[in-house]
Amino acid sequence: MDFTSLLLDWYNVNQRDLPWKKNKDPYTIWVSEVILQQTRVEQGTHYFKRFLEAFPTIVHLAQAREDDVLKLWQGLGYYSRARNMHKAAKRLMEEYNGTFPADVTLLRSLDGIGDYTAAAVASFAFGLPVAALDGNGYRILARYFGIDLKVGTSRAKKFFSGLAESLLPTHDSASFNQAMMDFGSLVCTPRPACSVCPLAKTCIACQKGLTDKLPFKQEKNVSRIRHFNYLDIEFGKSTFLRQRTGKDIWKGLYEFPLIETPQKSGFQELEQTEEFVRLLGSSACTMVGSVEVSPHKLTHQIIYPVFFKIRLFDSAPGLDKEYIQIDRQDMHRYAISRLTEKYLDFLPNFAGL
Ligand code: SF4
Repeated sequence: MDFTSLLLDWYNVNQRDLPWKKNKDPYTIWVSEVILQQTRVEQGTHYFKRFLEAFPTIVHLAQAREDDVLKLWQGLGYYSRARNMHKAAKRLMEEYNGTFPADVTLLRSLDGIGDYTAAAVASFAFGLPVAALDGNGYRILARYFGIDLKVGTSRAKKFFSGLAESLLPTHDSASFNQAMMDFGSLVCTPRPACSVCPLAKTCIACQKGLTDKLPFKQEKNVSRIRHFNYLDIEFGKSTFLRQRTGKDIWKGLYEFPLIETPQKSGFQELEQTEEFVRLLGSSACTMVGSVEVSPHKLTHQIIYPVFFKIRLFDSAPGLDKEYIQIDRQDMHRYAISRLTEKYLDFLPNFAGL
């Protein structure tokens, strides 16, 4: 039997029952695919259900405030996905009357939709004969066919796409694409279960002992190290927040006043920084404690965060200009990063704060 027949036979017996799988609605498929990028299925399923409850159609998503979309996304990370979905929904309303175009190139032109998501929507919703290759797909093909091209390069992308298209069954691209995802999640995982794999006899990596060498990956870039010092300012019952802007991480999310330093800093060093003086000037304040949250890893950077709890006794002009003053009890209304969420979760257990 050839690769496709073996794969589909396995799929017919072992496919996962996931809430979005039998759905042909392009909006539902799009939401599930975007949420599942960089997210485990267990966590993604919970967000998927909540997202569709809050924004059941493109119209609801397009009409929502970006803050509300980000708030719902809170904890999932990679917030650009939520911002791009929101933008794409607006464009679908403006240019396609709230529908999805049944065309890979047009889908690909929407914000945040890359080759994989465009192919997944085209195949699952419209039955178009396109292969949707994600990390699972590259891993399976590289191992089964013994291909040592560096995954992530344009040459490899072209080659693997061509190979996957040549393997598509004539009438059912959706089953093939779903099968690749399930097989890559359950059998040909990063640590593959070759002993129970129905493809083992004809798999080159398995036969030649290359499963830990394939797929051949590009070296990872060295992560940038950053030190974030947050000022959790207590001013009566209020605190101060700012919405992040610009091209840095967490655009659109809210955070406490932040001072980034080249190295780890104690409070006395922090007080000497230009930014601290600019924000708090000569206002009377005292530091009542600090919490060091575990390092927060992002794709190309690692954040070392410390939260300083500061009691402020009179107003600070620097803060008033740039930050919004909110009642501490309203913190839950603002979309914040997972990092700040961890700190707030930790706070009630920390004596003295
Ligand atoms: S034999 Fe092992 S490496 Fe080959 S396809 Fe199966 S699980 Fe993957």
